[in-house]
Amino acid sequence: MAWRFIKGGSLWADWMANRYLRRTNFWACRIDNNFSVTFKAILRCRPVLQTAIRRHMKDGTTTDLLLDPWLGSRSLLDILGGQLDREAGRGLTCSRIIRDGVWRPEGYPHTAQLAEEIRLVTIDASQHEDSWSWAGRGTGGGSGPFCFRSCYDLVRTHHDQAEEVDFIWGKGVARKMQLCAYRLLRGRLMTRDRLLRFGMQIPDAKCVLCNDEDESMGHLFFVCPVTWHIWTEQCAQLRGGVGMDRDIRSILSWIRDHRGRDPGWARRARVRLAASVWHIWKERNRRIFEGLTTPLLKFYIT
Ligand SMILES: [Zn+2]
Repeated sequence: MAWRFIKGGSLWADWMANRYLRRTNFWACRIDNNFSVTFKAILRCRPVLQTAIRRHMKDGTTTDLLLDPWLGSRSLLDILGGQLDREAGRGLTCSRIIRDGVWRPEGYPHTAQLAEEIRLVTIDASQHEDSWSWAGRGTGGGSGPFCFRSCYDLVRTHHDQAEEVDFIWGKGVARKMQLCAYRLLRGRLMTRDRLLRFGMQIPDAKCVLCNDEDESMGHLFFVCPVTWHIWTEQCAQLRGGVGMDRDIRSILSWIRDHRGRDPGWARRARVRLAASVWHIWKERNRRIFEGLTTPLLKFYIT
C-alpha cells in the first residue's frame, strides 16, 4: 500500500496526498494523531520501504532534492541532517543540480561536498520521468519494477527480522541512528564493496579507517582494527557486556536474550550499539567526503 502511495497516479494516492501532504512530503511527514489508521501504518513502513526501493533519475524534475531518498536510498536530509536549511530548500527538485543530462552538484551549496557520491547515481534520459523501482534482493545489484513477488519477499524478510527491527526502533535512540543500524542489519549501507558490485567506478576499495583491507560492512564495523577498539571500549563500559560476536545480528540477539535480567542494561546496550554504528559510519563518510579525520579517542562514544 505504501508502494502504491509513492507511485501515485491512482485516485486513492492522489486523495491521500492532497489530504495529508499538502505542505510536506511523504518521506518527511510527521505522524499526526489526526491521520487515519491506514495512513499512519503506511508512514510507519517508510524506513523499510526506503531501503527496498531505488530512484531512477531522468531529469530530476519530480524528485525532491532534500526529502526524497534518491541518493543510495538516503535523502540529503538523512545525510546532512542539521546542516540543511530546510526552509530555503523547500520545493527544490534534483533538476536544480542536473544540466543537460549531467550532474552539476556544485550548483547547490549542500550537495557540493557530496559531489563524488552524487555522480555515481545514473541519469537515464531514455526514461519517461524520474521513477521508483524495487532494489534487487540481497546485497548485490539489480533492480526491477514492483511485483507481488518482490513485495512478498520484502514483507517476509521483514517479518523474519521483525524482532531485531522492533528492538532497534525502541525508545531512546535518535532516528538517524536507528536508520543507520537498520541499514546495517539489512546489509544496505553503501560500502565500497557494494559500490563496486553496483558497477560504480570508485578510485579505491580500501577501508578508509585502517587503509589495510577492502571495505565491506563486515570489515568496517566489526573486523577493522580501528573500530574494534570502539567495541572493546563499549563492552568495558557495559561491564562485561556485549560479547565478542562480530556481526550486528548476533550482538542484537545477545542483548535481547539478556534484557529479562536487567531491562535498564539492555536499553543502554541498545543505545550504545546504535550510537557506535552511527559514529563509525559518520567518521567513514567524513574521511571519504570531507577528507577529515577524527582522532580515534575522540569518536569513542562516552
Ligand atoms: Zn579497516
